[in-house]
Amino acid sequence: MKPTDIAAPDYFHKVVDCQWACPAHTPVPEYIRLIAQGRYSDAYMINWKSNVFPGILGRTCDRPCEPACRRGRVEETPVAICRLKRVAADFKDDIKQRLPKPAAKNGKRVALVGGGPASLTVARDLAPLGYHCTVFDADPEAGGMMRTQIPKFRLPNSVIDEETGYILGLGVEYKGGHRIDSMKALLAEKYDAIFVGSGAPRGRELDIPGRKEAAANIHIGIEWLANVSFGHVDKIGKRVIVLGGGNTAMDCCRTARRLGGEKVTVIVRSGFEEMKASPWEKEDALHEDIPILNYMVPVAFKHVSGKLIGVTFQHVKAEYDDKGRRNLVPSGDPDQTIPCDDVLVAVGQENAFPWIEQDCGIAFDKWHMPEVDPKTFVSTNPKVFFGGDAAFGPKNIIWAVAHGHDAALSIHKMLSGEDVTERPLPEVEISSQKMGIHEWSYDNDISIDKRFKVPHRDKVIALKDIRAEVELGYDVKLALGEAHRCLNCDVQTVFSTSLCIECDACADICPMDCITFTDNGEEDDLRQRLKAPSLHPDQDLYVSSDLKTGRVMVKDEDVCLHCGLCAERCPTGAWDMQKYFIEMTHAGSTCPTKSRSAA
Ligand SMILES: Cc1cc2nc3c(=O)[nH]c(=O)nc-3n(C[C@H](O)[C@H](O)[C@H](O)COP(=O)(O)OP(=O)(O)OC[C@H]3O[C@@H](n4cnc5c(N)ncnc54)[C@H](O)[C@@H]3O)c2cc1C
Ligand code: SF4
Ligand code: SF4
Repeated sequence: MKPTDIAAPDYFHKVVDCQWACPAHTPVPEYIRLIAQGRYSDAYMINWKSNVFPGILGRTCDRPCEPACRRGRVEETPVAICRLKRVAADFKDDIKQRLPKPAAKNGKRVALVGGGPASLTVARDLAPLGYHCTVFDADPEAGGMMRTQIPKFRLPNSVIDEETGYILGLGVEYKGGHRIDSMKALLAEKYDAIFVGSGAPRGRELDIPGRKEAAANIHIGIEWLANVSFGHVDKIGKRVIVLGGGNTAMDCCRTARRLGGEKVTVIVRSGFEEMKASPWEKEDALHEDIPILNYMVPVAFKHVSGKLIGVTFQHVKAEYDDKGRRNLVPSGDPDQTIPCDDVLVAVGQENAFPWIEQDCGIAFDKWHMPEVDPKTFVSTNPKVFFGGDAAFGPKNIIWAVAHGHDAALSIHKMLSGEDVTERPLPEVEISSQKMGIHEWSYDNDISIDKRFKVPHRDKVIALKDIRAEVELGYDVKLALGEAHRCLNCDVQTVFSTSLCIECDACADICPMDCITFTDNGEEDDLRQRLKAPSLHPDQDLYVSSDLKTGRVMVKDEDVCLHCGLCAERCPTGAWDMQKYFIEMTHAGSTCPTKSRSAA
């Protein structure tokens, strides 16, 4: 193998598994270390720059970082990265002075359709550069689905007000209660750029017999949740069936419990394990005494004179074909009717752009989705950009934020007369953490603590009040314990070939056997010859240039704990622990202009 090019920005970035997995590439270990030092405001500001909504996401993020966390490879549970973000938000001081001040206007106007996380991120990046950003939303207040769909017992209004307020306070114009009903009319207003962040607002229907007749007690989940949020709905029948296995279904059933549902049941077509809902959402629903029944397909709504009395289900089982594809086939058990007073349908969400005319230069594909470049977020009209759920269908907040940053960069480049496809490199800093012979500036004590549980409000009290937040968040002591579980994966092991005397001391002391001195070879062959078998070929090998004996040092990045024992033990300092800080390119960042392909 060729010696590893550790100067390439993605090489060490990939070793920081959590940051690499985060769509917005939040510098996770850096903010966790700051939390451990009690520097909550600093930790908050790092988050605010990349994921924009630390308090909101610290309660609601889908957490793609956590399955990637290296801690999960040495024991069962990853670091509670997401809930530590909330700690930064809960314990910070007043950070208003640290936010950018409203900038002098540069004369360029940008219209943003929808006031959800995607548009707000675009505004957060463009307003400080002097763009006049106008956000139009059909709803009176900013936040999009974070405000209208996510229940208050998971995300209180005060947190949404605070964090949307920081963005609107940058001099962003918010036009609430203002639905855009014609793209042509908006284009005629001669904005310099338009960003469409209108989300995926339509709940999927379930058109089975009885749907029309019993309509009064059959509700589309996301519309029903919005009605609860706006206070238009404040009760539901005693027996409720929720159809669907995603996170919307989990929010529906838990909301129904709080509005008077005594017997609330979630019923899914697939198996429990295959449900789309996040594991912790399912856990929370089960904890609130909501059973989840599986392998049952709804076939009819039962009603008497237009009054819903139950839902009939066919029992199915999973069968797999030669290609491993799953089919649901009737199990042979007789159909079952489950009595109920109300049904909440949470079987999916769809995009809808009734307000974008066919002939305004924006092309749509056969699924009625806009044709959008996945890197630049530009549509077939070079002045119109899409992002968040509106661009590629329903996903989550952190993806909407990531899209917002990328679209803002494109808008800024386009309006500066630059090529939007040229994506500049991020900024990278790498610095030694050595302070004395045996002293490091980071805490490399690999504590054996298991993940600390986030305290919850007492169930009886929580179920009585739909606005009472269920999760109480870590206190300072629990937060410190959890922060210490982080392995500081951004403190990298950097090897200097010229200093190595091939004494093997590092390989001997490494608790994970991740260092091997051996003859060079092709990658597949080298992976076979490592001291510890290489189980994850998607994580790179670190290969040095030729040592004096002609061998090379090979380190498997997959298993390294970043404990620093190799560097501690090395008599010549050939190993050094160096902190690697990567900050993604945002609109207006000053950064090298070489374009990059990855990350
Ligand atoms: C029940 C439910 C629970 C969820 N829970 C989570 C969670 O816990 N964590 C998570 O990460 N994600 C969650 N999501 C998903 C998340 O809310 C969305 O992925 C995210 O909000 C998408 O952001 P966005 O900016 O693309 O659009 P949205 O947040 O959907 O915002 C779009 C905004 O555009 C407005 N709008 C639409 N059309 C127009 C128009 N023509 N004119 C003016 N305004 C318009 C809408 O009123 C809305 O305010 C949940 C979704 C639902 C339905
Ligand atoms: S141990 Fe810390 S730095 Fe490493 S992946 Fe997990 S959270 Fe990130
Ligand atoms: S930091 Fe060094 S000693 Fe520790 S696991 Fe990684 S290679 Fe082994």
